[in-house]
Amino acid sequence: MRTGDGKYIALSITQPLIPIVRNDPNEMMIIIKCPYCGQETKVGLTYMISGFVGCENCYFEEGGLFDTTMYLKTFDYLSYVDGGFYKEGYLANKKKWKERKKK
Ligand SMILES: [Zn+2]
Repeated sequence: MRTGDGKYIALSITQPLIPIVRNDPNEMMIIIKCPYCGQETKVGLTYMISGFVGCENCYFEEGGLFDTTMYLKTFDYLSYVDGGFYKEGYLANKKKWKERKKK
């Protein structure tokens, strides 16, 4: 749902509004910067898990948003609930994922 001034769109009730890069009458076609990885994407190509929004670039990749969220939910519930990991972003969490795999 976009804001009345057409500058932001809300995709998750637990996350801040997302600035619109390019508006479109069809909400699915609105271009935003993915709040997790920063890549430009269409709203219709975003995915959500536990209120965290990702896109086709960062969601399904190994160590991406899905993997990271599921891992933290099981092994670091506080980080999962707090959502601090999400603010660190995709690259930081992917790096941590790789480091954990080495152990
Ligand atoms: Zn993304």
